[in-house]
Amino acid sequence: MKQSKLLIQTLREVPRDAEVVSQQLMMRAGMIQKLAAGIYDYLPLAFRSIRKFEEIVREELNKDGCQELLMPMVQPGELWQESGRWQFYGKELLRFQDRKGADFCLGPTHEEVITDIVRRNVRSYKQLPMNLYQIQTKFRDELRPRFGLMRGREFIMKDAYSFCVDDADADREYWVMFNAYKRIFSRLGVKFRSVEADSGAIGGSFTHEFQVLAGSGEDAILSCNNCEYTSNIDKTEAPLVPGQDHGPAFELKKDHFCTPGVVGQVEQAAGMQDADHDGMPISQTSKFFLYLCTFFDGSTKLVGAVLRGDHEVNLVKVKNYAGAMALELMPIEEAEAFTGAKSGFMGPVGLKNVQFVVDRSLQSAVNLTCGANRTDYHHFGLDPARDLPGCTFADIRMAAEGDPCPRCGKGTFEAFRGIEVGQVFKLGTKYSKSMGCTFLDENQLEKPMVMGCYGIGITRTVVAAIEQNYDADGIIWPWPIAPYQIHLLNLDPSNADVNVIANRLEKELEAAGFEVLHDDREGMSPGAKFKDADLLGFPLRAMVGSRGLKEGVVELRDRRTKDVRKFKPEHMVAETKMARDRILLELEEAGGR
Ligand code: ATP
Ligand code: MG
Repeated sequence: MKQSKLLIQTLREVPRDAEVVSQQLMMRAGMIQKLAAGIYDYLPLAFRSIRKFEEIVREELNKDGCQELLMPMVQPGELWQESGRWQFYGKELLRFQDRKGADFCLGPTHEEVITDIVRRNVRSYKQLPMNLYQIQTKFRDELRPRFGLMRGREFIMKDAYSFCVDDADADREYWVMFNAYKRIFSRLGVKFRSVEADSGAIGGSFTHEFQVLAGSGEDAILSCNNCEYTSNIDKTEAPLVPGQDHGPAFELKKDHFCTPGVVGQVEQAAGMQDADHDGMPISQTSKFFLYLCTFFDGSTKLVGAVLRGDHEVNLVKVKNYAGAMALELMPIEEAEAFTGAKSGFMGPVGLKNVQFVVDRSLQSAVNLTCGANRTDYHHFGLDPARDLPGCTFADIRMAAEGDPCPRCGKGTFEAFRGIEVGQVFKLGTKYSKSMGCTFLDENQLEKPMVMGCYGIGITRTVVAAIEQNYDADGIIWPWPIAPYQIHLLNLDPSNADVNVIANRLEKELEAAGFEVLHDDREGMSPGAKFKDADLLGFPLRAMVGSRGLKEGVVELRDRRTKDVRKFKPEHMVAETKMARDRILLELEEAGGR
């Protein structure tokens, strides 16, 4: 392919609204352009990478007998009514009506449509298990689309759905897909982790995310440095901390400490002084949050969460404890009106119509301080089990780096940031029951199929690969998804001899199976071509110029190592093959676990 004919506009400057490296580089390299918030054009170079990654996904899924199909992006609202999700899927679901007034939506995911297909076409246990997938554009009206293709509103996803006769077979299929995902991300050579995760609103019972490790990742991951336990922090089990000895239990002394105007937890703890106390250890203070929970049937409830002063609340855990569809912190003005105190002085004691959940690290705690629901005052002597009748103790805190691992009890947690590129879910019978997707077993008994669903963010994975592979000059493409493998630079297109050799090398390399972008542009200095080539970041750069040809040599440069080899033009194909083999070997060694 001749670069003079390629649709590409590289940029010198970093676009102002590009926040993360991958987005900056993709925009500067002329790969993507923004059409609207979270909606991008995939220009030819980006499209080639996307297609290549899709092919890797297809190859690995087809090996496991998955069948590819393609479902409509526009979905009838009726199906979503049937599954029950029409009411509670939030604003991410873009809904609209056709000219007859019938409800439709743009597919953010396809459980409803696939379940409908299978219930219409599969009747017997003999046809199961079945695993169906598609690679398709999804639309989610994300609240904050950002980071280019990383969190778009429109993006490409591979979504697969499995249908099995029972739980055991659904488990088997789950691990088949889990292993296929490992192969897929290993083939890219990216560093990744499979992590235990929360199953969220999709309604699953068991799930892993695949996370590409990158500082810009939106997810926090904790991983034990001794055992295999690796988990999204939303889900990470917090270790039980040893009970603190706060002496023999006192009565609850109301409005005991007066710490006017001091709101921060540490400052408050220091300010809690009386004849016996010269401040409190922060572990003896408690913090309190009021949440408004909304349930799937539309009802609401107030949940009050109580934690140790130095612990962080984990909203996902509180939401799961409550069994809520959504949870939001009570707006500050409402909370002030409800408790009668300013922020910093709110507490659980005496509040009516609130369901209390207390973090389990306070299970046997006594003599705690807590907000008095009177501005500037704290109670002293809180014993949650005694003073909050009907409260439940549960794990609702964020585990943290350095915490001992609750699984093996030997290691401690290390923290990473990750980009979620894929997720595997055990769905169970949620959709098959609500939508009547059943089969007849050997005894002619009708049973619901047991489902799983499995997503890979195709466009997000390409972005994640860039987040892990770049330097100050530009992208360093992993070989398997590089838009082209070889960037052939003609450094003197006005010189007829150079042109002849460059065109010949282009043909020879292509004949040997390489994908070549031939920079034949006229009127550009070699320096400008080098800059563009570094920015585009194809794995190998072949260079032909009059200076080299005078000595009878052309050059080949490795984008990652910057190693340059010089040799006669007739050795180009052999040298390129050797360089490729070396790169692929390194890639294999770099692959994540
Ligand atoms: P997130 O937590 O990042 O919003 P999700 O858990 O809602 O993602 P899934 O429903 O599991 O996403 O979708 C499967 C995959 O699709 C994700 O693992 C991710 O790689 C990709 N994906 C999801 N949302 C987006 C988005 N807004 N832009 C690009 N890719 C996305
Ligand atoms: Mg997910």
